[in-house]
Amino acid sequence: MKLCLECQKSISNTLSKFSLEKYDIPLCMEHQYWIDDMENKTTFEIIRLYFALKERGIPAQMEQLSGNKNMDIVIPDARVNIEVKDKNHNYRKNQALSNLNRTYFSFIKGFFTIRIPNSLVYNKYTLEDTADFIVGVLNESLNKQYLANSNDIDLRS
Ligand SMILES: [Zn+2]
Repeated sequence: MKLCLECQKSISNTLSKFSLEKYDIPLCMEHQYWIDDMENKTTFEIIRLYFALKERGIPAQMEQLSGNKNMDIVIPDARVNIEVKDKNHNYRKNQALSNLNRTYFSFIKGFFTIRIPNSLVYNKYTLEDTADFIVGVLNESLNKQYLANSNDIDLRS
């Protein structure tokens, strides 16, 4: 018996084998449909990075951004957003400005935005390095929050 990487439900070896061949990761039937549906709403690279983070035990979420069809990855606990884009994404001025705007509003809400180029995620080896790097950023972010909270306590005492 294997576990679905998305919901941790156990799945049969046959289903797991099928899923690994088709998606490169073990998924239950429900989440194989979910991925098929998700592929219309987001990019292959975002899904890949999302599952690379899940494999590392990161409670990542795919979130719909307002006014943007692409779903990006959010880790609410660590207050980090991840955007995965191709390099053309920043070439158009309006797009670049709207990216800056989104980064600004995320920052106001206390969220740090990491931008990852598609090219890093597309390649299997750089995907692993990229996911490890993000885990490092998430840990730093959690440490900082922890320190900030303990400073609050010190100030009050
Ligand atoms: Zn599942």
